Amino acid sequence: MQDDGLYAALVRRGMTRRSFLQFSAAMAAALALPAAHAPRIAAAVEASKRLPVVWIRAQSCGGNTEALLRSASPDTVALFLDVLDIRYHDAFLGVSGGDAQLALTSAMDLFPNGYLAVVEGSVPDGASGGYCLLGGRPAADVVRDVAAGAIATIAVGSCACDGGAPAAGDNSTQARGVRDLVGGAPYMALPGCPVNPVNLASVIVHYIAYNQLPPADLAGRPLFAYGNLIHNQCERRPHFEFGEYALEWGDEGAQKGWCLYKLGCKGPETMGNCPTVRYGEQVSWNVRAGHGCVGCMTPSFWNEMGPAYRRLPSPVPFLPNLTVDVVGGALLGGIAGVTGVHAVGMGARFKRRRMIAARERASVAAGGPGSPRAEAGSRAASAAPVIVPGPPPAPAPGIAEPAPGIAEPAPSADAAAVIAPGSDTGER
Ligand code: SF4
Repeated sequence: MQDDGLYAALVRRGMTRRSFLQFSAAMAAALALPAAHAPRIAAAVEASKRLPVVWIRAQSCGGNTEALLRSASPDTVALFLDVLDIRYHDAFLGVSGGDAQLALTSAMDLFPNGYLAVVEGSVPDGASGGYCLLGGRPAADVVRDVAAGAIATIAVGSCACDGGAPAAGDNSTQARGVRDLVGGAPYMALPGCPVNPVNLASVIVHYIAYNQLPPADLAGRPLFAYGNLIHNQCERRPHFEFGEYALEWGDEGAQKGWCLYKLGCKGPETMGNCPTVRYGEQVSWNVRAGHGCVGCMTPSFWNEMGPAYRRLPSPVPFLPNLTVDVVGGALLGGIAGVTGVHAVGMGARFKRRRMIAARERASVAAGGPGSPRAEAGSRAASAAPVIVPGPPPAPAPGIAEPAPGIAEPAPSADAAAVIAPGSDTGER
């Protein structure tokens, strides 16, 4: 394939100028960047050469590759298959055995200035690495070599990030993630089972546009994708707040789309962007489809978050029976108490106002202040010299007056109180 740049490759793929700009805007949105960044992304992709990629698969079910190839977004698939220069991926090779190994080593030798390394699957230390051999070598050694020549390494899927399912239970193969194999080179973790292809595409586009990986948390997860609790973005969240839960699969609550917390949803303790990015061209994600979040983006999720259908444990260790609905009930009780006090205060104020109004009516009837007689007296008194008030005092320096006709905003209550059972970091 000609190597005349990313944009030319996209055009050859059939992408129009309009869809290219839409793609750039979608990438900016996925990266949680303002729309003003879209032109910069478009310009960078236009000017960039195709980025060489070496993709290694170790202890993996292949789900991340499947998720990528079966992505409903033609732009995402185009980015990987045509726009990136995938030099090695064992599922895409037309050769096997020694020729496949030659493809890997020649890909690494061909780009002395580096390539993008993508690793899928965990690496086992058990049996001297013998549980997963690539070309006869332990996967850990191959990953170490590939990462050493890379400009950046991206771990895709939970297995590559922290061992994932192979590391669950007694971890019989001594599986682990790849982070400590990449040395000090730039590293990014994209956990998920599988990774969302849009997040992977966004990281690559960010690298192309800004020549660096996007900002990340301590686990190496990009903040644009893993910086917010799933629970905070979930479309079923209002039902959680109102205590409307599905209690059994298929019951009335499940059919009405109520919260799946009591059926084991791990959204309150999982950081991710599934509710906003979704899957299949943003059509759906698991909670929208009726299944709770299993917490697959949380480190060691298989051990820490399982079983999938067990309700999250108490957020307070010394109160093991405390559950989020009890906490929510207590909070609601507190809110009800405050509301009651407020209502009593309002009632007292209304009563006082009624008394003042009645007193004023009686005063008017008796010719007191405000009565026609009192008004006439007031007009007679107006023959006295009129004192015209001066201009209002100038505001203190630094205090701007509101423009005429613009009312000062009322102080807003913080409506964003979160009744999350776990910490807001999502880490356990
Ligand atoms: S518990 Fe699950 S289903 Fe309920 S609001 Fe949170 S993420 Fe959504």
